Amino acid sequence: MSLFTKRVLISDLCGLLDTYMSKKQVEGVYQAYILAATAHDGQYRQSGEAYVFHPISVAMILAELKLDYYCIVAAMLHDCIEDTTLTYEEIEYNFGYEIAHIVEGVSKLTGLEFNSNTDKQAQNFRKLFLAMTNDMRVIVIKLADRLHNMRTLGSIRRDKQLRIAKETEEIHAPIARRLGLNSIRVELDNLCFEIIHPYTHKVLAHKIKRQYGNRRKVIRHIQAEIENRLNQENLNSFEITGRRKQSCSIYKKMKLKKLKFSQVLDMYAFRVIVDDVADCYQALGIIHNLYKPLPGKFKDYVALPKSNGYQSLHTVLFGPKKIFIEVQIRSKDMHFVSEYGIAAHWHYKSGKEEEEGLASNWLGSLLDIQQNSGTSVEFLEETKNDLNPSEVFVFTPAGDIIQLPYKSTVLDFAYMVHTSIGNHTFKAKVDQINTPISQELKSGQTIEIITNKKTKPHPSWLQIAITAKAKSSIKSFLKSESTSELIQLGEYLITNALDYQGIDSESIDEDKWNKCLLNLNCGSKEDLYAKVSLSEILVSVVLNSLQHDSDNKIHKISIKKTQGKSISFARCCHPIPGDKVAGILTTSKGMVIHRFECSNLSHTKQKNLQYLQVDWKPDEGEEFRAKVSIDVANRRGILASIANIIFKMGINIESLEVEENDNSMKAINLIISVANSDKLNDILIQIKELEFVIDVNRI
Ligand code: MN
Repeated sequence: MSLFTKRVLISDLCGLLDTYMSKKQVEGVYQAYILAATAHDGQYRQSGEAYVFHPISVAMILAELKLDYYCIVAAMLHDCIEDTTLTYEEIEYNFGYEIAHIVEGVSKLTGLEFNSNTDKQAQNFRKLFLAMTNDMRVIVIKLADRLHNMRTLGSIRRDKQLRIAKETEEIHAPIARRLGLNSIRVELDNLCFEIIHPYTHKVLAHKIKRQYGNRRKVIRHIQAEIENRLNQENLNSFEITGRRKQSCSIYKKMKLKKLKFSQVLDMYAFRVIVDDVADCYQALGIIHNLYKPLPGKFKDYVALPKSNGYQSLHTVLFGPKKIFIEVQIRSKDMHFVSEYGIAAHWHYKSGKEEEEGLASNWLGSLLDIQQNSGTSVEFLEETKNDLNPSEVFVFTPAGDIIQLPYKSTVLDFAYMVHTSIGNHTFKAKVDQINTPISQELKSGQTIEIITNKKTKPHPSWLQIAITAKAKSSIKSFLKSESTSELIQLGEYLITNALDYQGIDSESIDEDKWNKCLLNLNCGSKEDLYAKVSLSEILVSVVLNSLQHDSDNKIHKISIKKTQGKSISFARCCHPIPGDKVAGILTTSKGMVIHRFECSNLSHTKQKNLQYLQVDWKPDEGEEFRAKVSIDVANRRGILASIANIIFKMGINIESLEVEENDNSMKAINLIISVANSDKLNDILIQIKELEFVIDVNRI
């Protein structure tokens, strides 16, 4: 096996850092090395060498990508919290919050172990990886860590090699691809292939070598011809390189396109790097003039970048002697992004920005990337979706990953595993610590549910569970098993509430009760009580109905706290406090609040269903979703400007969608969280003031 790498020394690393960092920063890295060497003293790698060579090598991989001081120092210390007695506080004391924070993030990821073979689980695991951190540098260091571990797999047992290589193939390589970290991705792919298919690799590598040997002359000839022609046409400053294909990519191509060895092997690849976009297209024209292009093979990733920001022109040509020539043409800037991807952002910039604190808010930095490089909006959206806390990923004790909506509780988890487990949830342990079943879950936790045959769902569980699956299971159990308990509880809730208002429930006459039952579609008092304890009807609605003139079908009720009650907000019109609203009573979701002008509400009115006018006073700090549509002139960096305004106002973007209307205009649809309609109006006014904004509307 060729998994042998030269030992990287601290002097090699510092030598490389000297080429792009200040003396002071290189000195800082050296200090980190001393700290790491001391902390890892007495620890050894499988290969027998001192442990500290591992962090030095990881730092070296990142230094080759010219990553910043913070990344390099954090890489040097990346295994210290996990594997040595060094603490977060000590790192923070010596190197500051930012570096300590990155190291801590890497340690958290190190604790995760992936041991499932299904595609779905791998996808969840990748999302979990991204969800566990808010700083992309953590991921980049983790990928470099994995790359060095892969390079040094030679000294461990075959079964372990295989497990690590498969994990890398499923998790790390796709993340590297997603983030556009090409140099790392290519090497990971090749190392995985070498380990997983050792025989095929050997055969292919041999064939490739022989083929290139035979074709050397003609390849040189083609390269020279392209060079000459570009020179003749006065295309100044370009660089042309031939690329020998790796066994792994040839293997993939054969499998994917069902081709034979010879068909794939006779493809030669060249890369032409020019100064700017205009030169890209000029070079393309020249090359197409030199050799005939293969129809249908031209791809313009310059005008339409890939979602990870990759830009290039791709074409395939008929070369001499029936050789196919693959050519990639790109500018220097594009080449930079294609090699470094997201890491390009922390690339050392000489001069003024040297000491500037880098945004640790990863979304913030994404916006910068978008602004600076015009990276596609799609990338921002996709990646944000991964990082948006709309989901949590937790583990069963067996290591399976369960995906749940954000804010799910231990009880939701129990029901997600199985209804019978949910129904008998007795106790729970989160990361081996006893935890109440109402506890909200966080990504990465391992949950163990302890069941007891005698335990059964209690009506209060309806307030704990947030997922539809758990709620409906609890309800159906309660309905079938404990009607008398439900009735008792409902009666208690209503009597209590009346008491609280100084009304004796006995004093309410039958006539009032009957009207109330009719209003609320209940067959009997028992039915009403049961529905109240199932939160299908709100206590406040019953009180209003009993106390007000029951002939009038519209009641005005007042809502204060919304959390924990069965009140939800319509997704069609996204009401926020300050809007005129009304509620519709539903059996599955309790009361659903709509805006008064919502068309779904007028439907309900026509059908004469129960609806109530609502006087709504939210809690302090409560936030609600509002949908906004912005029509803008189509220009680069627009999204970043709008997002910056919204972030500056301390408001969260929940989702973002871009509609291309025509070439000159597009619409941006946002869902944001705001406290009330006044705040929303402020935002709309500010956005409207931007020069490229044509119109802003709440939807
Ligand atoms: Mn490590």
